[in-house]
Amino acid sequence: MYVWQQAEGQRHARAAVHFGSLDAGATFAALCGSEPTVGENDIHSPGKPWLDPTCPSCDTAFRRALGIPEPRPDTGPSRKALSKAAFSKVQG
Ligand SMILES: [Zn+2]
Repeated sequence: MYVWQQAEGQRHARAAVHFGSLDAGATFAALCGSEPTVGENDIHSPGKPWLDPTCPSCDTAFRRALGIPEPRPDTGPSRKALSKAAFSKVQG
């Protein structure tokens, strides 16, 4: 099991050895391979949400670990709806 932890300007994922947020000054092994340090502003509380962007490497590792598919860009409506089968020309 993994949890998210904001540190050093990004929201990283880490193994849930410690539940909840870590104390300021603590370091942790993020899934992306870095070992960021938790700052004073990274302490999570209900009145102070985490606003830093998600670490893309941690996001990928997190999805692989939990079997969650990667997000896909919007591909729009299916082209199958534009079938030409009913359209025919009569020549002569
Ligand atoms: Zn990370």
